[in-house]
Amino acid sequence: MKKTYLCPHCNAVLNPNEKIVFIVDDGDQRGLLLLSAKPGDYRLIADPNFPLVKGRVATFICPVCTKSLTSPVNDNFVEIKLDQGGNALSTVEFSRVFGEHATFILDGREMAAFGEDADDLDDINFFGSI
Ligand SMILES: [Zn+2]
Repeated sequence: MKKTYLCPHCNAVLNPNEKIVFIVDDGDQRGLLLLSAKPGDYRLIADPNFPLVKGRVATFICPVCTKSLTSPVNDNFVEIKLDQGGNALSTVEFSRVFGEHATFILDGREMAAFGEDADDLDDINFFGSI
């Protein structure tokens, strides 16, 4: 099943191939970051000159409309949309802290968690403010 990730602001497809493309800004530098489209796969491709410091929070930005993708419901997460071919779009939330592996896919009232750090964070309420 093909997963298509979309910008919640402009609906641009963020994974033209198997990688999801973001601009990331860590406050000092801005660069391109490619993430796997497979939930739970945290291998990433970045410019070797871009220092991805573990524990550092980065702002993820849509490469098409350049709006921030920080989640409106939780400031520590990035929020994008996921089209899995069904009627409704799912919402993907993942940590914007480098090295923190937590991804949640919200599909209606269902929530699936991925990544070894997700257990520590599974009390986060993405359905409303906390
Ligand atoms: Zn956009």
